[in-house]
Amino acid sequence: AAELVTLGETMALLAAPRVGLLRHMHSLHLSVAGAESNLAIGVARLGRRAAWLSRVGDDEFGRLVTATIRAEGVAVYAAVDGTAPTGLMVKERRTDTATRVQYYRAGSAASRLSPSDVDESVVRAARVLHVTGITPALSGTAREAVLAAVEVARAAGVAVSLDLNYRAALWDAATAGATLRELVTRADLVFATGPEARLVVSGGDETVLAAELAKLGPRQVLVKRGSRGVVGLLDGTGYDLPAKPVRAVDPVGAGDAFASAYLTEWIGGAAPDACLHAATVAGAFAVTVPGDWEGLPSRAELNLLGADSDDDVQ
Ligand code: ATP
Repeated sequence: AAELVTLGETMALLAAPRVGLLRHMHSLHLSVAGAESNLAIGVARLGRRAAWLSRVGDDEFGRLVTATIRAEGVAVYAAVDGTAPTGLMVKERRTDTATRVQYYRAGSAASRLSPSDVDESVVRAARVLHVTGITPALSGTAREAVLAAVEVARAAGVAVSLDLNYRAALWDAATAGATLRELVTRADLVFATGPEARLVVSGGDETVLAAELAKLGPRQVLVKRGSRGVVGLLDGTGYDLPAKPVRAVDPVGAGDAFASAYLTEWIGGAAPDACLHAATVAGAFAVTVPGDWEGLPSRAELNLLGADSDDDVQ
């Protein structure tokens, strides 16, 4: 059985191969993109069993999505919906560092996720259920599916992990804040950036935000700050870890990489500083390659960036 289960939408990704306007690209690179499958792939690469629950369209993009995720060693439970297409995401590189993203996912097969897609036995058998703030933004039934999965997990004593993952293109801050707050109160582990945390609680710096989130219930709160590292409040103890200095090519995917390594180590019973260290290394790996998940490290590779360790755990 899978040790980590997650649910969400994975889209076909059409990415511009170089900088410029899309209309001048002539061809686009075809791949897949989805925060939850990124996380599941990260966990699988680090050696833990992961499962991904979703819906895809009965189309080539859907078959690409499921084949890609399966090929990474993740167990796929995805209903094929003959009446709605697989979602699409288009990535334009407008400058060397500025990426623009466009979604074609309204009405997609995965937006039709509903509680009946949640395989309760898969959730119950896991150690961790990981959900994000993206899935509940897809539709009312997708939101119900997330809440249903969370309830199944809690009733079975399965830890609930939540990445706030706010997507402004999908819902407004007030609606998101209310739903995310509801999820934070039910979560054991919470991953957020500072701005995401402020949708739910108020506070100035990341340390205050972590403390405020922890007051809502989660035992472990991680507030990520990109190239400035991460602040953690883990079972009552505060941590502050700098990022690994690397040359960033594409910041997208760092958060998923970070959470995947953190959860992998956490499942393995590692101490908080070991979880944070692995997460920081994985986050650094993710920003060094253009894709969202292609740069996710294997267990052996964690040592590549880990050996020169001058980490400070406070
Ligand atoms: P995403 O862009 O995927 O949504 P995020 O905003 O959720 O990411 P970040 O804070 O950007 O999350 O990154 C998560 C972690 O990854 C950071 O705490 C840090 O450890 C690492 N990281 C992010 N950016 C860099 C960077 N430029 N250099 C090194 N490490 C980084």
